[in-house]
Amino acid sequence: LAARTDAHQATIVDLGSVKIGGGQPVVMAGPCSVESESQLLNTAYAVAEAGAHMLRGGAFKPRTSPYAFRGLGEAGLKILAKARAETGLPIITEALNTADLDLVAEYTDVIQIGARNMQNFALLEAAGRTGRPVMVKRGPAGTIEEWLLAAEYVLATGNPNVILCERGIRTFENATRNTLDLNAVAMAKHRSHLPVIVDPSHGTGKWYLVAPLALAGLAVGGDGLMIEVHHDPDHASSDGPQSLNHEHFADLMEKINQQSAQP
Ligand code: PEP
Ligand code: MN
Repeated sequence: LAARTDAHQATIVDLGSVKIGGGQPVVMAGPCSVESESQLLNTAYAVAEAGAHMLRGGAFKPRTSPYAFRGLGEAGLKILAKARAETGLPIITEALNTADLDLVAEYTDVIQIGARNMQNFALLEAAGRTGRPVMVKRGPAGTIEEWLLAAEYVLATGNPNVILCERGIRTFENATRNTLDLNAVAMAKHRSHLPVIVDPSHGTGKWYLVAPLALAGLAVGGDGLMIEVHHDPDHASSDGPQSLNHEHFADLMEKINQQSAQP
């Protein structure tokens, strides 16, 4: 179902005001984690003003250490819904496990399946069955084939609204957090009709590499970007080192618009 065939038109995930895969790059921006109402609204307004199309923010956070900040849970979902109501931006947030899925689906426009859960087949199927659009992030050690088959699990539930997201894989290189695999973006576009979003924030782990890799991700055929943005990255509860501040995000949006306007 995920495969590109002559018969299958490119999938466009239609969120009303935003169409993912429709030709215009879709930028999903916001903090790694929802930390508080004032934090999220502050950044939501900033990214909306800069021209982002969707708001991201984690309420359920997969953290390497159990002692790290793990998100606000339902309170975070409520804050996201408030930010959507105020800014008009559709939202995307992660569901970490099947127990939270109905709750997450109730609030969000797109359910994010995190990289660590790429092969959590029960979660993929349950997410598909909510009927909400689902974005499947590639696992840090997932092959392209495995990633497409993870998307297939969602499609096989009868839910056609699936988005792929390349967020970097684990390689021998340790100067960056992950290695953003631009081959995979081009290959996924070649092999599948599904829209592909590129996440240079997790893909590099360094805020100063986010803009060049974002532009590269669109240049190789990405349908949009997921970008972490924080009003004060040095004090973010998660992923500060890879988060753009509001000013740097606005600069990136200008560059994206310039690049997209070129014939
Ligand atoms: C995230 O988007 O904040 C996140 C946890 O991403 P990933 O699953 O790609 O690590
Ligand atoms: Mn993050």
